[in-house]
Amino acid sequence: MWLNNILETIGNTPLIKLNKITKDIPATVLAKVDYFNPGNSIKDRMAIKMIEVAEKEGKLKPGGTIIECTSGNTGMGLALAACVKGYKCIFTTTDKQSKEKMDILKAVGAEVIVCPTNVEPDDPRSYYSIARRLAKEIPNSFHCNQYDNLANRLAHYESTGPEIWEQTEGKITHLVCTAGTGGTVTGTAMYLKEKNPNIQVWAIDVYGSLLTKFFNTGEVDMNEVHPYVSEGFGEDFVPDNYDMSVIDRFEQVTDKDGAVMARRIAKEEGLFCGYSAGSCLQGLMQLKDKLKKDDLVVCIFHDHGSRYVGKIYNDQWMMERGFLDVKSFKDIVNGRKNSQKL
Ligand code: PMP
Repeated sequence: MWLNNILETIGNTPLIKLNKITKDIPATVLAKVDYFNPGNSIKDRMAIKMIEVAEKEGKLKPGGTIIECTSGNTGMGLALAACVKGYKCIFTTTDKQSKEKMDILKAVGAEVIVCPTNVEPDDPRSYYSIARRLAKEIPNSFHCNQYDNLANRLAHYESTGPEIWEQTEGKITHLVCTAGTGGTVTGTAMYLKEKNPNIQVWAIDVYGSLLTKFFNTGEVDMNEVHPYVSEGFGEDFVPDNYDMSVIDRFEQVTDKDGAVMARRIAKEEGLFCGYSAGSCLQGLMQLKDKLKKDDLVVCIFHDHGSRYVGKIYNDQWMMERGFLDVKSFKDIVNGRKNSQKL
């Protein structure tokens, strides 16, 4: 038995019970571990969907060029699909993203253009503007626009949602998910709420993003926006993929708490996940008093830790940002010195 190509391995990722970090929570907490996708993230699901819909609508033709603003994960999914289907890829990204992420994209044949992080989305230097401009200039190109392309949330409505429903035999009571473009949380929640409108959907955001305030007040408040180091979620605008009516609550997490929790997930649960998985579980821990014994919580863990080895999994990087407390860092260093003496 074999598969016809790598794209056939997308989806059907495992749901894994968390046992240690969540031991004081009365509910059962499961993680949908989407780093098992071939591009090591959940974004493979929407990448292939955006391409399939564009092909069907005649927006992407043979030999065409796929253009996208991506922090890496969407790019990886698109690049894999482009290899198999014979398209070229050009990605714009920000100078905040891990170098590892960009090198991986180049390894699978994509061209990567690095743009400044701290400019407004409408600034001609922003990674949104550059992608839009390239799409106009390059013939036979297709700008995926994961933010406003509803094939993004459709992918999760058609795959992530049904998988979670089946894997929990319809017993899920809470969905917890970090929110960036909004595709994952909205698409998954749309499906699950159709099945059972009582399921609670908690979107996890980061301080420095305006999504939480927008959810709570309807106001797009740029005063909320400031640079943050968490990767993959939070936004400085509200993408079209959101349907806020399927989300029950937004919860914000600090850069430090998300990073520390990701390291705990790796050490205590053996799941080597990305930054946003830490933020997702941290968000749940902040809301744990709302859970009861019979609740069945599903947290979505978007990607793999290998892309963050130079960041949250690096003690020096954590120290420099005040994320690792100096005493425990000194203990580690002293421990090493002592073990060398021995
Ligand atoms: N975490 C990571 C690592 C991601 O790459 C993304 C996608 N930007 C998200 C969380 C948020 O998912 P979404 O864009 O579907 O809201």
